[in-house]
Amino acid sequence: MAWTCGCGRETSRGCTTYDLKGVLVKEVCPGCDPSKFEGPITDPSDNKIYTGPQAMPTLYKQDANGVYQAKDELISDTVEKWDKGPTERAKDLKRATRRTEPLTAEELEKTRKWGVEVLAPLLRAHGMGAVVGAMQPKDAEVASGR
Ligand SMILES: [Zn+2]
Repeated sequence: MAWTCGCGRETSRGCTTYDLKGVLVKEVCPGCDPSKFEGPITDPSDNKIYTGPQAMPTLYKQDANGVYQAKDELISDTVEKWDKGPTERAKDLKRATRRTEPLTAEELEKTRKWGVEVLAPLLRAHGMGAVVGAMQPKDAEVASGR
């Protein structure tokens, strides 16, 4: 579905940023901020089926006959996904990236202060939904294709 970006271009892809209160901060298209659209094309709003080479052009090479062949990197990633289920992959990621050292006294105090000054008043005034909203990353971005 076509959409007209704030820059005036008509496009099928856009990236929309909202603040914590759900207020629109900015909208960009591939024309005005190409860096937001460098990844593979996987936008379901295009209502198209993309081939592997279209969606992940860096993971395929063309052979002498012009036929696309998956690179070794893609094949090994795919084999790994077949060999391990999503739970095992999530556990591996957690093992590799988890924090193992305890919080410092400064971090504990900062967290306690945030709970008392930010979360407790929100909980009293607006309930758990407001607390969940406050715990979202400050510049959470929602990619939306219109
Ligand atoms: Zn634009």
